Amino acid sequence: KTKTEVNSDAKPNFGVTGRKIVYDKDGKPCRTCNTLQDFQFATAGAKKQVKTPVVSGMNPEQPVNTKIGSYAKEDPPDVTVLGRSSWTLLHSIAATYPEEPTNKQQKDMKQFINLFAGFYPCWFCADDFQKYITTNEPKVETQDSLGRWLCDAHNDVNKKLGKPKFNCDLWKQRWKDGWDE
Ligand code: FAD
Repeated sequence: KTKTEVNSDAKPNFGVTGRKIVYDKDGKPCRTCNTLQDFQFATAGAKKQVKTPVVSGMNPEQPVNTKIGSYAKEDPPDVTVLGRSSWTLLHSIAATYPEEPTNKQQKDMKQFINLFAGFYPCWFCADDFQKYITTNEPKVETQDSLGRWLCDAHNDVNKKLGKPKFNCDLWKQRWKDGWDE
């Protein structure tokens, strides 16, 4: 069986990127769990052509009919766009979290992380993140402890995806202070 071959229900098991297609509980392809290309492939079926993703500001020669008013007709986020934006938000929150948080701020941060994990739009990512939180309780005592905890959590996902490990001693340069020239 090739990786793009469809299964008996005409639902492809693998997408054009080679990743396994993730379906929602209703059987439809999950938009926020797949890459855009794989989502379009699974939605259209193997016969139809897959269109290239539209990224705002990346294509100045975009035809007029891909716009709605002044805005580009951008697609809803796929697993990659959603992930990158979410990590940006999470690490940036750590970067502005108080260095000496009050008890209430610590409690609120734990609650925020739990709620975030519960509502994360990619359901299988959310399931794994919730498990991670259960076995690795968020460290909310200081800004640095939160930044490092998030860095470890992000590395856990990096590992799962076969991506390199980020050096957590550098989390502040990446997300707060910037790099020395
Ligand atoms: P990203 O991993 O999004 O990282 C963005 C930037 O953060 C990098 O360029 C780097 O500068 C910096 N960075 C990298 N690692 C670290 C680190 N450890 N600490 C601090 N900074 C770092 N995708 C899946 O396919 N499957 C999943 O199960 C899944 N689970 C996820 C769970 C959560 C909670 C989140 C927020 C995202 C998840 N994602 C998942 C998305 C995935 O982690 C990536 O965001 C996505 O693959 C895009 O990767 P990227 O290469 O653009 O870089």
